[in-house]
Order: sequence, then structure tokens, then C-alpha cells
Amino acid sequence: MLLEVNNLSTVFKMKRGTVKAVNDISFNCNDGEILAIVGESGSGKSVTSLSIMQLLAENAEIAEGEILYKGENLLKKSPAEMRAIRGNQISMIFQEPMTSLNPVLRIGEQLTESIRLHMKLDKKAALARAVEMLELVGIPSPEQRVKDYPHQMSGGMRQRVMIAMALACNPELLIADEPTTALDVTIQAQILDLIYKLRQKLGMAVLLITHDLGVVAEAADRVIVMYCGKVVEEAKVDALFERPLHPYTEGLLASIPRADEDRERLYMIEGMVPNPMNMPSGCSFSDRCSKCMEICKTKEPEMIVDGERKVRCHLYTKEQEVAK
Ligand code: SF4
Ligand code: MG
Repeated sequence: MLLEVNNLSTVFKMKRGTVKAVNDISFNCNDGEILAIVGESGSGKSVTSLSIMQLLAENAEIAEGEILYKGENLLKKSPAEMRAIRGNQISMIFQEPMTSLNPVLRIGEQLTESIRLHMKLDKKAALARAVEMLELVGIPSPEQRVKDYPHQMSGGMRQRVMIAMALACNPELLIADEPTTALDVTIQAQILDLIYKLRQKLGMAVLLITHDLGVVAEAADRVIVMYCGKVVEEAKVDALFERPLHPYTEGLLASIPRADEDRERLYMIEGMVPNPMNMPSGCSFSDRCSKCMEICKTKEPEMIVDGERKVRCHLYTKEQEVAK
């Protein structure tokens, strides 16, 4: 097992109290697997990835749980050990590459700098590695493009550069947080295709964080669905699309835009994600769920596990076979 997250809770300390952004979640990611974490904004998916990287904001704190990477608890590592792991073994790309790239440094300089930070290479060898990486991520004439500044590239090209930078040191885990959200639809598909192909070629695992189940369908092997800081469903992608179990997942599926539908008519899950300071009692989805029953308003559903499928919802009981 490459990554094993057990009972992780991450809290934010606010003026008016403490908010559990991630509330007792557990999941695994296998070697070479593309695992998607899906949910609306505020579901805790980004906080989960930042907890793994230990790049949380100052007012955030991991309150409980363990994050095992190759069997070792990352939460027990020193800051220096974590720095060595980040970039070398686990690396991360974000939504907006422009904010992660330095606007006044040429692409080649940034790439070689980051490569030299993690690998013992001289400048020339690092530049060669940079060119090789740009080629790998599908940037044409890489020997020329290393001389570009970020603003001379399109959004899609910049995201390719970020991927090149993230993969230059052969990480075993790539965390991609909304890697295509800022891009237009055609470029989105190209970047997902690139991530998918690079996984085939390099064999790294990918934790793909997204609000868009369309992205999941495109690239992931397995998916966990998060709502209000909890995992509400887990399944292989095919099974999830064939038969979503949780009403929230159903809603997400219904809101995937299709090419033949105009966006105006797009289904939206009614209501809003509850204020974390004021969560409904019982099931946290209860005030938006069309299938809500009496019990849902008072009792929090437990996770029902059946083989590779998991669901947290009162519509299912342990006696029932979830997988049927
Ligand atoms: Fe809906 Fe109840 Fe299931 Fe929550 S537990 S998702 S309210 S049916
Ligand atoms: Mg986010």
C-alpha cells in the first residue's frame, strides 16, 4: 500500500470556535493507482491533500489520525524530513499554474532550480533533464521553450510545465488538486489525457482532487466522494457510474455537463453546503436530500462496507448487499 489515511481529522481554529474541515476520514491509495477525491468546494478534499503534504494554513491543525506513506506515519516526520519527501516522493500540482510559477524567471531556470533542489545534478545535466521533462509532457520544441517566461505560454502549456516540474524527480505519488479547473474544456481533456498517459508510462500513483465527476470518469480508477468533511461513498469508477449509491453522488452525476445539453439546463443539487459552524444533526446531507427520512435528521449514518463499495447513508443497512 502506497498511501493509507486512517481516521484523519483536520480542524480550523476560527474566532468563533473550531471547525472540523476533515472529519475522521480513512482511505487507501495503491501503487500506480489514480484515486479521485470528489466533492463540492468546502467538502474537505483540498484540506485532505494539504494534510498529506503538511502544507496546511497556520490556523489549521491535524487533530487525529495517521497518514501512512509506505507504512511510515508522515505525521511523525520532522519538517526537514517532510521537505525531503515533498517533491522527491510526493509532489503536487494546483489549479492555477500561474500562481505557482515565478513570472520573472524563465521556464528553464525554474525547472532546473527545482530539479537541482531534489537531485544531485550539475546545471547542464539539470537543464537536459528539464528539456527531457518538457518533451515528456508534450511541449513542442522544448529546447526553445525553456527560454520562455510563463506569460509567453498558454494556460494549458503552463499546466504542462507544472506537471513536468512535479514529475522531474520521479515521485511515486502525484497530488493534483483541481488540475484542469482553470482551463477550457478542450485543454482540460488534453491535460487529463496527459496525466493518464504519464501514469501508464511512469507508474506513479495520482490523487486527483476535483469537484467534477466528468473529470473522474475520464481519468480515475477509483473514487471517494466527500461531503462536509466526511467520506460518503467509495467505489471503483465503473461501479459508481453504473449505480451510484449515495443520494449526493447521484446529484453529482446528474450535474455532469454533457456535450448535447446546454449548460443552462444543467441539474444542480438543491440547497447549499451547510455552514460548518452550524451543521444539521444526523446526516449532514439531510437538508438537501430528496430521500431524507425521519432517522436521517437525528442519527448520523455509519459507513456500510461491502467489498470494494462503501456508503454512508441510512438507505442502506449492513444486512443489505450494497454491491447488488
Ligand atoms: Fe439522504 Fe438520509 Fe441517506 Fe442522508 S442518510 S443521504 S438524508 S437518505
Ligand atoms: Mg479546493
